[in-house]
Amino acid sequence: MRYNALQILKQGLTGHKGWKPAWRKAEPKPEYDIIIVGGGGHGLATAYYLAKQFEQKRIAVVEKGWIGGGNVGRNTTIIRSNYMLHENEGFYEFSLKLWENQEQDFNYNSMVSQRGIINLFHSDPQRDAYVRRGNAMALNGADPVLLDQDALRKKCPFLNFDNARFPIQGGLWQPRGGTVRHDAVAWGYARGADKRGVDIIENCEVTGFLIDQGVCSGVETTRGTIKAKKIGVAVAGSSSRVMAMAGMRLPMESHVLQAFVSEGLKPVIPGVITYGAGHFYVSQSDKGGLVFGGDIDGYNSYAQRGNLPVVEDVCEGGVSLMPMIGKARVLRMWGGIMDMSMDGSPIIDKTHVNGLYFNGGWCYGGFKATPASGYCFAQLIATDAPHETAKAMRMDRFSRGLMIDEKGQGAQPNLH
Ligand SMILES: Cc1cc2nc3c(=O)[nH]c(=O)nc-3n(C[C@H](O)[C@H](O)[C@H](O)COP(=O)(O)OP(=O)(O)OC[C@H]3O[C@@H](n4cnc5c(N)ncnc54)[C@H](O)[C@@H]3O)c2cc1C
Repeated sequence: MRYNALQILKQGLTGHKGWKPAWRKAEPKPEYDIIIVGGGGHGLATAYYLAKQFEQKRIAVVEKGWIGGGNVGRNTTIIRSNYMLHENEGFYEFSLKLWENQEQDFNYNSMVSQRGIINLFHSDPQRDAYVRRGNAMALNGADPVLLDQDALRKKCPFLNFDNARFPIQGGLWQPRGGTVRHDAVAWGYARGADKRGVDIIENCEVTGFLIDQGVCSGVETTRGTIKAKKIGVAVAGSSSRVMAMAGMRLPMESHVLQAFVSEGLKPVIPGVITYGAGHFYVSQSDKGGLVFGGDIDGYNSYAQRGNLPVVEDVCEGGVSLMPMIGKARVLRMWGGIMDMSMDGSPIIDKTHVNGLYFNGGWCYGGFKATPASGYCFAQLIATDAPHETAKAMRMDRFSRGLMIDEKGQGAQPNLH
C-alpha cells in the first residue's frame, strides 16, 4: 500500500479500516543470503538499501527486541553535517543529502525538519575554531554561516546575552541541519525493506556465530540457527558484547547518554541550539516540548538509564544559557547505550572472519548518520568494496595510527 493523499481520503471515508500493518511479522527461515543483526536505524537502513539500491535478495533483519526500542527511538533527533575532519564531513554531508530525499524515497513521513542548527561560541579562539570548521564544511559542499552577536540576537533573543558567565559572542549556523522524528525513521525503513521482501524478525536475539576455519556461515539465535552467506552486525551500544561472541575485542566502550523532554511550551526555539561553554543542547518538538540533553554519564554501562549528577549538570547548562526555561517542568527522561569508539568516529568494515561485517562506534552521533551508514554498509556487504565516503572508517585504523580524532581528545571515549 502506497501512502498518499488519495489513500488518506479513501481511508478517511471508510472508517480507517483498510490500513495494513507497516511490516509483516516474519518468522525466521533456515537460511538467507544476508542476515543483518540489529533492527535499529542502521540495521534497517542497511537492509533497505541492500534490497533497493543493490538489488540483493533473501535478506533478514534479526532484532532481539522490538523495532524502535534501541537508540533509534531514544535519541534527541538532531541531524547535521557540521564536522571538521574530511573523513567525517564527506560522509555526514552524504547522509544529510539522503535525509533531504528520504521521505519521498521510502514513502513515509519521517518529519524531516531542516530548521537549522547553531553552535554557539563564547570566546575569540572558539570563534576561530568554528571559522575553521565552517571552511572545512564548505570544502565538502555543506552550508556553514557564521553569525555575529547581532545576527544571533535577532534569531534567538531569549539567550542569556547580557548576564552570562561565558558571554555569547555568536554562532556557527548550518541552515540545512535540523531534526527528524526518530522512531518514524525506523518504521519507514522497516516498511520500505519489508515491501522489498526483507524478513524483519523481532524478539530474536543472536546468541552466537557459526564460525569455522575463519568463515562465518550463520548465527545462533533464541529462535534457532539461521544460516547465511553474509552477516552484517549493526547493534550500536551492544557492539562489544555481540562481537565478543565472534571472538573480537573492539576498540570501544559502552556509556549511557540521557535525554529529557519538558512540558509543551509555545514555539520559542527556532531550530537546534548547542551551548559552547557547557554540555547542553536543545530543540523544540512539534508538540512543544523542549527536547534536550548534554554529556554522557562518565562510566561504562549497559543500563538504559542514567544518574542524577548528569541531570543536574544538563539543567544547569540549560538555565545558564536561557534562564527562561528554569520554570519549565521536565516531563520525561531516559537513557540509551552509546558505542563510544576510541577516536569518536565510526567503523564500517569487513572483519578478519570471512562473511562477517561490522558497523558501529557511532558514539552519540549515529542518528544523523543512519541513511549514509545504511547505504555504505549495504554497499560494502553487496560488493565487498567500501563507499567513497566511508573508506577511512576502517577497523585497523587504530593499529595503523590513522585515527579520525574529530575532537583531538586522544583515545578517551568518555571525552568524545
Ligand atoms: C539520549 C540519546 C540522544 C542521542 N541524540 C542523538 C542526536 O541528536 N543525533 C544523533 O545523530 N545521534 C544521537 N544519538 C545517537 C544515536 O541514537 C545512535 O548512534 C544510533 O541510533 C545508533 O544506531 P541504531 O539506530 O542502529 O541503534 P539501535 O536502535 O540501538 O539499534 C541496535 C539494535 O541492535 C539490537 N541488538 C543488540 N544486541 C542484539 C543481539 N544480540 N541480537 C539481535 N539484536 C540485537 C538492539 O536491540 C537494538 O534494537 C543519541 C543517543 C541517545 C541514547
